[in-house]
Amino acid sequence: MTIYLCHDEPDLYVHDAVVVDSRPGAVALSRSAFHPGGGGQVSDIGSIEWSGGRVAVTHIEPERGIWWHVLAAPDAELSGDVTVAVDAEHRLQVASLHTMSHVLNAFVFDEFSGALVTGAQIGGDGKGRMDFDLPEVDNDRLRALEAPINDVITRGLAVSQVYVDAVEAQQIDGLVRSMSVAPPPTPDGRLRLIDIDGLDRQACGGTHLSNTAQSRKIAIIKVENKGRHNRRVRFRFAG
Ligand SMILES: [Zn+2]
Repeated sequence: MTIYLCHDEPDLYVHDAVVVDSRPGAVALSRSAFHPGGGGQVSDIGSIEWSGGRVAVTHIEPERGIWWHVLAAPDAELSGDVTVAVDAEHRLQVASLHTMSHVLNAFVFDEFSGALVTGAQIGGDGKGRMDFDLPEVDNDRLRALEAPINDVITRGLAVSQVYVDAVEAQQIDGLVRSMSVAPPPTPDGRLRLIDIDGLDRQACGGTHLSNTAQSRKIAIIKVENKGRHNRRVRFRFAG
C-alpha cells in the first residue's frame, strides 16, 4: 500500500472522485491521481469537472495531510461528484526532466566519487537544475555529461519502482542521497526506490518515466559556481 495513487497507477490520468472538503478556489477530493510535488519538483496540473462546469487546477497545496487542489477560479466552490483530469503533457515533461536528473545524478555520483546533491528543482517550463557538493572540479567536466545522458535516452533503459525495507535501505551506501523528491512514507515502513536498469537505484517519491527513451534529448545549458562547494547544473530539453 502506498500513499500516492499516482505511484500505484502511473498511467491513470482521468478518474472519478467526490469532494470531501471545499473552500473558495480550492478543493480536497476522496482520491486524486495528481502528484503533489515537493523537493523542488512542481506538482501536476490539470482540471476538475463538476456539475457547475470545468475548472483548471494550477497546483496542489498539501496542508496537514490534505491535498488542496488550487483552482484557476479563486471564487469557485465545488461539491459532489467530480471527474479529475491530470494534464498528461505536463506530467510527461516534468517526469522526463526529473528522470534525467536521476541519470545526471548517477553520472556525477560515479565520476566524482560519491558527490552528493544539495538541491534540485524541476519546473513546469521545461527547465531543471541540480546543485552538487563539488568543491574542486572543472565545470567543463560537468558540461560533458550531456552526451552520456542523451546516450541513456537513446539506449531506452527501463525505469521501474521497487519497494524495500526503509531501515535496511539506509545502510546501503548511495541509495538514499539528499536529493529530489522526498519519498512518502509507506504505512508498513517500506521505501520507494526508482531503478534505472543497470544505471542507478535511488530513493524517490517523484514522477518518472517507465523508459528513458520517452524523454526528449537534454541540453546542459549552464554550470555555475554557487559558493565554494556548490556547482549548479542547469538543463532543459534540447532544440
Ligand atoms: Zn525521482
